[in-house]
Amino acid sequence: MKERVLITGAAGFLGSHLCDRFIKEDFHVIGMDNLITGNLDNISHLMPLEAFEFHHHDVSDFVHVSGKLDYILHFASPASPIDYLKIPIQTLKVGSLGTHNLLGLARAKSARMLIASTSEVYGDPLVHPQVEEYYGNVNPVGPRGVYDEAKRFQEAITMAYHTYHKLETRIVRIFNTYGPRMRLNDGRVLPAFIGQALRGEDLTIFGDGSQTRSFCYVDDQVEGIYRLLMSDYAYPVNIGNPDEITIRQFAEEIIKLTGTKQKVIFKNLPKDDPMQRQPNTAKAKEILGWEAKIGRKEGLKITYDYFKSLPKEKLHKTEHKNFSSFIK
Ligand code: UDP
Repeated sequence: MKERVLITGAAGFLGSHLCDRFIKEDFHVIGMDNLITGNLDNISHLMPLEAFEFHHHDVSDFVHVSGKLDYILHFASPASPIDYLKIPIQTLKVGSLGTHNLLGLARAKSARMLIASTSEVYGDPLVHPQVEEYYGNVNPVGPRGVYDEAKRFQEAITMAYHTYHKLETRIVRIFNTYGPRMRLNDGRVLPAFIGQALRGEDLTIFGDGSQTRSFCYVDDQVEGIYRLLMSDYAYPVNIGNPDEITIRQFAEEIIKLTGTKQKVIFKNLPKDDPMQRQPNTAKAKEILGWEAKIGRKEGLKITYDYFKSLPKEKLHKTEHKNFSSFIK
């Protein structure tokens, strides 16, 4: 009998890539999503497979899955600053109540549980690059607080289940990750810039663009997560690509890649926007033998080709209605 894995957030960007990976590894995959930010197009190719089943469910409510479960990967959560602003309560609930429900399920099934944490637990970091031992600099009542604190609580309750109930748990701290199936209008910088280039609009840089990020291609991220799940390490591990650039440089790269004739324009920097972010990946290297392999040039080309292949009407749907309240 195949090993069985439950993946929450299965119709999302990372969740859908994880479903693909576990199907490839010959698992029976149960994908779960409430479709608030997920999109069934991301997993439509899996639907006909016998090894895949989809459950339309919100994990913040009691979760039932029949039969055995060997692994649970909790990837359900809004994951962009625009989304937290639009659905702040759901963001808090899925990280806290949702995690609690899934930990209970993991206990009942004696399954190993991996949670998707984030570099946001470091907030606007005062230690650079960020090591797992850094406790972070988070504003609990700022616009990002609903996500950051839910994720910090998620780590805490997962660790409590590990120490108190002896549950097998894993915690991955995911740094900015990109690739095909990102939502074009979720407000994140990469789909924002590529969408603007494809629509012939100027690229909107927030602040002066001197803030930094380090972008990891999705296949590298999935490989790191898979290795962590299969390891015996219960403490948090950063998975990300340490190649750090400023948002200004990133905009220039997108302009070059897309050949757009548009220019960059500057908007206000959103409140609590981290000024620098780069993972220290020494732990991933040492414990998992993992490091990012796919450079931005290669990864961005694949991602651009994906966005270019989308139907034109998708390029023009904007979701920025609440955005002004996010700006200082
Ligand atoms: N950003 C930007 N223009 C945009 C969208 C985002 O300059 O149209 C900036 C944003 O202020 C942040 C960085 O790009 O400094 C990354 O933003 P994103 O929302 O992708 O992720 P974050 O790492 O902030 O969670």
